[in-house]
Amino acid sequence: MNILLDLDGTLVDTNASRYDGIKYGRDRSFSLNDIPVIAGAREFIEAVKSRGHSVTIVSDSHGAYVGAVSEIIFGTPWLALADKPNTAKLRAYLESNFGFPSRSVAEEFLLVGDTRLDIQLARGLAIPSALLFRGTDDVPHDPYYNEEASWARRCMEGATYNCRSFDELLGVIETPAKHRLVLEDRMGTAAARMFNGRNLNDGHTLIRGLGRQQQGPCDAYGAIGRYYKFGSEDRTEAFLAGVARDVSRYLHDEVMAHDFIRWDMITCVADKATTKPPRKMAKLLHALEVALPKEELFVWSPDVTGSIRQEKKRAGRMGFIKRFVRLESDLDLEGKNVIVVDDQYTTGATAMSHVDMLLEAGVRNVLFVALFYLTEEVPVEKMCPRCGKPTRIKYQKRDGKPFYSCVPPAYNGTGCGWMGNMTNGRN
Ligand SMILES: [Zn+2]
Repeated sequence: MNILLDLDGTLVDTNASRYDGIKYGRDRSFSLNDIPVIAGAREFIEAVKSRGHSVTIVSDSHGAYVGAVSEIIFGTPWLALADKPNTAKLRAYLESNFGFPSRSVAEEFLLVGDTRLDIQLARGLAIPSALLFRGTDDVPHDPYYNEEASWARRCMEGATYNCRSFDELLGVIETPAKHRLVLEDRMGTAAARMFNGRNLNDGHTLIRGLGRQQQGPCDAYGAIGRYYKFGSEDRTEAFLAGVARDVSRYLHDEVMAHDFIRWDMITCVADKATTKPPRKMAKLLHALEVALPKEELFVWSPDVTGSIRQEKKRAGRMGFIKRFVRLESDLDLEGKNVIVVDDQYTTGATAMSHVDMLLEAGVRNVLFVALFYLTEEVPVEKMCPRCGKPTRIKYQKRDGKPFYSCVPPAYNGTGCGWMGNMTNGRN
């Protein structure tokens, strides 16, 4: 496999502004001893190479810095000023150095990075990607947790794999199929770990996503087709059985096999009387092959009006669910451990409001499993409407919003200077 590695933030810890002069090529007299290598990065690259894979560093920073760090510290070839998430530069590099796509296929590559620009670049090229984000493994429970900082937010950038350490990343490189999400690959055993938290009942709240419902370009594994079919009126019994089999495999191999928590029952989010196909989630629940009692704990109020989709914001969505969905059961849930299955994770409002209802009923540990999670849209590259040359995607310094720029000669481009808003950019 050919591993394409981001540099800043992934291999070296140079995000502080004092490194800007070095990264932008203004300070050429720096010492390599001044560059803080992230613990384990050198060993990771050595391990990858010793297993016969190629490593190339792909960075937005200046060649004077990227070249020295890549060759002397890591001993790898490199591509500087990569202009992420624009694909032109890496596309040309991959064609001339690896014959991609003319003589090699997307699965032979893995682009690894720590920012959404890395993931957008990979998605634009339709090659697999791994988001490497380090963070604490357990966050305090808060239903209004910081979305920007949350794991869910990062997973929704849409990487093929989400890794928390170089060790996990090495596992992905060694056996990629095994590390794909269960609803995206028959061989996959993984789930996106969107939330791990201690909850108010002294237990754990865990949220997992089993497949990406991707917006825009992506690698070949995203589960958008399965997502649409799952909610379609003409989904067949055989299709439902296939989804149930994959979810069951995850529950059996990755949840029930570990005795960290002994689960007491499994339930699903409630289907409205008007839901199409009828009993969309309940039918999946009863089709699961899992050695747990299946309980339909949640019901919609009969006087529900409107849809959660009318509420765009998370708080509004949580309010909608808490107004119209209730936990209705004669079971004593005090101290119990409950798994909940839902079809879609978008803002997390459904997940967190259902978790809250269970915790209020005394449930100790909750595992919320979303079959599909919505990924962010990738900015689509386009031609200049004024001169017809390819534009570049750039980001406003002020608010990080993407826009198109037909870069003029004054900024080292060949375009006419047109700038345009992105109506189909990331949301
Ligand atoms: Zn133009």
